[in-house]
Amino acid sequence: MEDVDCVVVGAGVVGIAVARALAQAGREVIVLDAAEGIGTETSSRNSEVIHAGIYYPQGSLMARFCVAGKRMLYTYCAERGVPTRDCGKLIVATSPEENDRLAGIKARAEANGVEGMRLLTRAEAMALEPNLVCTAALLSESTGIVDSHAYMLALQGDAEEAGALFVFHSPVLGGRVAGDRIELNVGGEEATTLRCRLVVNSAGLHAPALARSIVGMPSQMVPREYYAKGNYFSLAGRSPFSRLIYPVPVPGGLGVHLTIDLGGQARFGPDVEWVETLDYAVDPARADGFYAAVRRYWPALRDGALLPGYSGIRPKIVPKGSPGQDFVIQGPAAHGVPALVNLFGIESPGLTAAIAIAADLVGPAGAVTGLAS
Ligand SMILES: Cc1cc2nc3c(=O)[nH]c(=O)nc-3n(C[C@H](O)[C@H](O)[C@H](O)COP(=O)(O)OP(=O)(O)OC[C@H]3O[C@@H](n4cnc5c(N)ncnc54)[C@H](O)[C@@H]3O)c2cc1C
Repeated sequence: MEDVDCVVVGAGVVGIAVARALAQAGREVIVLDAAEGIGTETSSRNSEVIHAGIYYPQGSLMARFCVAGKRMLYTYCAERGVPTRDCGKLIVATSPEENDRLAGIKARAEANGVEGMRLLTRAEAMALEPNLVCTAALLSESTGIVDSHAYMLALQGDAEEAGALFVFHSPVLGGRVAGDRIELNVGGEEATTLRCRLVVNSAGLHAPALARSIVGMPSQMVPREYYAKGNYFSLAGRSPFSRLIYPVPVPGGLGVHLTIDLGGQARFGPDVEWVETLDYAVDPARADGFYAAVRRYWPALRDGALLPGYSGIRPKIVPKGSPGQDFVIQGPAAHGVPALVNLFGIESPGLTAAIAIAADLVGPAGAVTGLAS
């Protein structure tokens, strides 16, 4: 058994950002991931959108960390040469009822501290995006896109420079609470047990299962996991829009929207498909629903133009039909186990929020503060 200071389980964008913050705060950090490299799960299966912080309930962790995270992300990426583009986004209404909802969305965004929101008439929106058909729109100027892999590599580089060690092919199989330490059983070729002063469970879709596998962690504090898959279809040919185009949101997701990557490739999605298993295959038959949804704001979409792309799975902790969920950041004050911080339900806007979540965790009022160091 080896004594170590901090172990972060999971080298997705959030785990890497947490490792960076801990290492830069002077802690010794080991990041363990079951996969062969960084960001192989949800962190590389998303829309790569820098969210503004528009939809989240005021005072929620999502609202707070998205708005702060967006600013930190733009600044960080500019400093580190990580490609981003603040292309902006239009939320488009396609009926008088949807027109009425735009003002409410704008008010919520502004209550969250989002700047640069502007209601547009049909003519104003169509002047910005000539291929768009809508009845009104809401422009979010601060929404953008980021090269998520370059972003994670930059964060990993910082963490390593501050002394963090990344170890791959190292699944954490379980563990137990041992006094004020956590013992983790690590599998892989060089299976071992680590006695940790601090464990940050940033295992994404697997975070609830990992928490349950730690003997001594109260099981009633661990939420049940649910999976809401989001499928993407890519668009053959040039993008008809220069901004991101979103319909007025639907329950469980943001509606079938158009995003553009930094190479200019347009894709539609993600939709919402509740699933029981982690299967990332995209069923080509789901394209039917996409054509119908997209043609509400882009009737010129040609038959056959949508090609099955990729999918990601939202780490939900509430079932289908529930009102939205918030991020859950659970430290000793919440669950009573010293030395353990669980991150549950880190779905969108987790990519945008990652450095803000990390800064908060390791900052003066964060869940890590006060733990043995
Ligand atoms: C369809 C979709 C679209 C999205 N779009 C956006 C967007 O446009 N903008 C935005 O801001 N956010 C978006 N998000 C959210 C964002 O992608 C996630 O919040 C973020 O990637 C979560 O990162 P993470 O580090 O928590 O988890 P992950 O990236 O899932 O990383 C978890 C890691 O833990 C490892 N792991 C798991 N269990 C173990 C174990 N027992 N032992 C060792 N390692 C383990 C895994 O291998 C994995 O590498 C989207 C999410 C989805 C699903």
